[in-house]
Amino acid sequence: MPEPATSRFVVVGCGTVVPEADRACSAYWLETGDVRALLDCGPGALQAMARLALPWQAVTDLVLTHFHADHTGALPGLLFALTWGLLPDRREAPLTVHGPPGTIRLFEALASAFGEFVLDPGFEVRIEESEPGSTSLLAEGVRLETHSTPHTDESRALRIDLTEARIGYTGDSGPSDTLPAFLEGCDLLVSECSLPDSHAIETHLSPSSVARLASESKPGCLLLTHVYPQLRAAVDVPTLVRRAGWTGGIEMAVEGWERSFPR
Ligand SMILES: [Zn+2]
Ligand SMILES: [Zn+2]
Repeated sequence: MPEPATSRFVVVGCGTVVPEADRACSAYWLETGDVRALLDCGPGALQAMARLALPWQAVTDLVLTHFHADHTGALPGLLFALTWGLLPDRREAPLTVHGPPGTIRLFEALASAFGEFVLDPGFEVRIEESEPGSTSLLAEGVRLETHSTPHTDESRALRIDLTEARIGYTGDSGPSDTLPAFLEGCDLLVSECSLPDSHAIETHLSPSSVARLASESKPGCLLLTHVYPQLRAAVDVPTLVRRAGWTGGIEMAVEGWERSFPR
């Protein structure tokens, strides 16, 4: 019998737009088979990957949920590090970027600001724009699906189906009637929980709307992330989500939080 594949999900950055001492902005690492994927690439992600001894040099796929700077700000630094950070060696493996329509334009704008290395770092950069609702394969048995979220025009949630697990990530999102069905049955659901219920807005989730999302989508583990310091400083956020009606497993994301599949 072949060994079952082991996949690994690691929180690189779980912060928000607010600079904080103990966490980078949004970034998550997923290793499965030959895939080394970085989901979002917010400021501080590179240093956090180094702290966590993650092989950033070996990243194969970059998956972007939307273009806000707290999810994309480290892109030029990552491309620069992949271009020149391995001297005297040079990277040869291609990098595939999966993002919403507008990703090519973003990379072209970064190239005109920072230099041609963004698009031509000495290895192939493949940019695959996809409409929400589409499916793409990162590798055999690693299927990425996206779903539009109420946050920005291009923002989307991700669902990644591996043979041994389903992982969901809301990206940034407000309350949505269609998101629970899209994220149904995840072994791990990484959900933003930005703001307190008293300051709930249409374009972010709060403990009550996260509890509703989880109760309808029934993840094995709900991992709260992208919690604004205004919320996490004041209270125990998982307790708020439980009080709002979620009775399943729940954890708070911190740098280096990690889960392997199969468990
Ligand atoms: Zn954000
Ligand atoms: Zn955002």
